[in-house]
Amino acid sequence: MMSDVRRIRHWIGGRPWDAPAARHGEVYDPATGEVQATVDLADAEEVDAAVAAAARAWPGWRDASLTRRTQVLFGFREIVNRRKQELAAAVTAEHGKVLSDASGEVTRGLEVVEFACGIPHLLKGGFSEQVSTNVDVCSIRQPLGVVGIVSPFNFPVMVPMWFFPVAVAAGNVVVLKPSEKDPSASVLLAEMWAEAGLPDGVFNVVHGDKPAVDRLLAHPEVRAVSFVGSTPVARYVYETATGAGKRVQALGGAKNHMVVLPDADLDLAADAAVSAGFGSAGERCMAISVVVAVEPAADALVERITQRMATLRTGDGRRGCDMGPLVTGAHRDKVAGYLDAGVQAGATLVVDGRNVVPDGAPGGFWLGPTLFDRVAPDMSIYTDEIFGPVLSVVRVGSYDEALALVNANRYGNGTAIFTNDGGAARRYQHEVEVGMVGVNVPIPVPMAYYSFGGWKDSLFGDTHAHGTEGVHFYTRGKVVTSRWLDPSHGGLDLGFPTQS
Ligand code: NAD
Repeated sequence: MMSDVRRIRHWIGGRPWDAPAARHGEVYDPATGEVQATVDLADAEEVDAAVAAAARAWPGWRDASLTRRTQVLFGFREIVNRRKQELAAAVTAEHGKVLSDASGEVTRGLEVVEFACGIPHLLKGGFSEQVSTNVDVCSIRQPLGVVGIVSPFNFPVMVPMWFFPVAVAAGNVVVLKPSEKDPSASVLLAEMWAEAGLPDGVFNVVHGDKPAVDRLLAHPEVRAVSFVGSTPVARYVYETATGAGKRVQALGGAKNHMVVLPDADLDLAADAAVSAGFGSAGERCMAISVVVAVEPAADALVERITQRMATLRTGDGRRGCDMGPLVTGAHRDKVAGYLDAGVQAGATLVVDGRNVVPDGAPGGFWLGPTLFDRVAPDMSIYTDEIFGPVLSVVRVGSYDEALALVNANRYGNGTAIFTNDGGAARRYQHEVEVGMVGVNVPIPVPMAYYSFGGWKDSLFGDTHAHGTEGVHFYTRGKVVTSRWLDPSHGGLDLGFPTQS
């Protein structure tokens, strides 16, 4: 009965928002296919309430000392670490990824919290003494105010944590709009902030879909928007919010290529392709979805990948399997549709994930690991971001052909090259038009103190996430020129100020 189903509420002003929602969404357990909760979907009214709560909290948080802000950050870090398994369980229950993977995403999110604990150092400005006689100049960086974060379903903990630890540490106040498909983790994170002593209203969560996002993009008090999701929505968010005068970073979709040169260790390359292709059922923006096999390596590589795929166990993420279900039935059906499309286009279906026998309930959103060989660049399985457990092998004749293929792709999020030739690897990292590059590393997600972001259709805006670019995004610069007057400075001078 619907009345027995758990209700997931917004978190506004330091507490759950009790007012009934006009609309709600259903949250599935992807491993059983059952509805396990409903989530309130915000309209403009709830978004306005969250922005107002944040705006009220801003003056106090902006003016809180760096010591105080850092103490809250350290407290939050301890709490997330202590409650890591609870967060991971919430992710697995709503997203479907296996528990070890969910725990890994919390760890990667915590790295950004640890980075943000160093905010006193990160906010240090510059100072120049005596730029003119008795005149000094200093530069400072100040927070923006209310910032909106809109996040995708595939990393319900890590992706919001790419942004909000830095935003909060820098003195901003946050309204997070998580994915409506797996919203529980964001509420747990809000509770953890409260437990850490973050003042009410500094961190708010509004659940919802397009109407909630649209209101955030239009709200005059929202100064900046960090978005992560598919490319069409990222482009829309970027154009709409910059049009409304906001600062925007909008990270979009991906199609990540792993180039394997003939001199590579093919066993290690096959391990990497399978791990990076099917981890989290391929629902990662940094998943490898295309293996570019440079001949004469392709036959041996495809054979090794196929052998390894046969050992993978697909099933309920709580049962120690390697790969879980897809996030919803609709998404599973969409991904499965690409298997027919690939066959019709003439690719060789080496492993068909529709034949999987899952270790899980029959109603789960299952699709097993799938491998296509002899994929051509004009096939939809190559051109589209499938975002599921479907790996394509494109065979090419040379390094130059591989590079040209990768650079012609509209996306530029991540890529990897597998080789033992240092010169070839160096050439690739220099020549490839992609934002994050791995050399014998299949998923090169940067550490928190570097910045995460792709090129081309994988990111709209100038600034990548976290690292110093994240700090820059959530602050604005001010330069102060000062002189302490004494009587010798008197007299009028209407000329343009120059040094003297
Ligand atoms: P999505 O674009 O469907 O949704 C992302 C967010 O936008 C959600 O919060 C959703 O509610 C909202 N949204 C959806 N449609 C909207 C619309 N028409 N107008 C306004 N808001 C809208 O993405 P998803 O399916 O949740 O996530 C998967 C996508 O995210 C993939 O394309 C993946 O590559 C991408 N992704 C990219 C990165 C990156 O770093 N580049 C990281 C993770 C995920």
